[in-house]
Amino acid sequence: MLEKEIERVLFSADEIRARVRELAAEIRYRLGDGELVAVGVLTGAFVFLADLVRELGGEVRIVLVRASSYRDGTRPGEISVEIPGETDFEGGDILLVEDIVDTGQSLKALKHTLLERRPGSLTTVALLDKPDRRRVEITADVTGFTVPDEFLVGYGLDYAGLYRNLPDVCVLARCVYEDHA
Ligand code: 5GP
Ligand code: MG
Repeated sequence: MLEKEIERVLFSADEIRARVRELAAEIRYRLGDGELVAVGVLTGAFVFLADLVRELGGEVRIVLVRASSYRDGTRPGEISVEIPGETDFEGGDILLVEDIVDTGQSLKALKHTLLERRPGSLTTVALLDKPDRRRVEITADVTGFTVPDEFLVGYGLDYAGLYRNLPDVCVLARCVYEDHA
């Protein structure tokens, strides 16, 4: 049963909805009412991206990118970023949309890769921020919630591919990942 694997709800769907509305207002205040390119990071940001772009309103293009860490162990902390071939960011106002900033390595690599494409501006937003785990000194320009160093699932975040469809952000029970370890 999925319910047994959840230790507690950290942010309910209602709390998230209210915060996403505030984040959208803050982003529009910073960037104005013009066209934006919302760049969502697969897969975890897909739920946040979907809610955020509907709160942003106006003209929004959507681009989905993927950030993966090299797993061969030869380049520790290195992240590869895949951007769809036809994408043109030049001169545009980019809004990078992340689920969570943990060590900060993904955000750093994503910013670096996007800036190489010469956008007009780059703003970053993360729903969640886990500062205790940071290894690279970086924060998103706009952050939804600061969270403790626990393993979170729901609202796009997974464990072993599951739980992304939970409407709340939850703390996963330790027994789940200890069982599977
Ligand atoms: P970073 O490069 O900042 O260490 O990692 C960011 C990525 O790690 C996030 O985009 C997310 O995919 C994953 N991540 C970090 N913390 C958590 C967590 O608590 N739960 C889940 N499901 N993924 C996490
Ligand atoms: Mg991510």
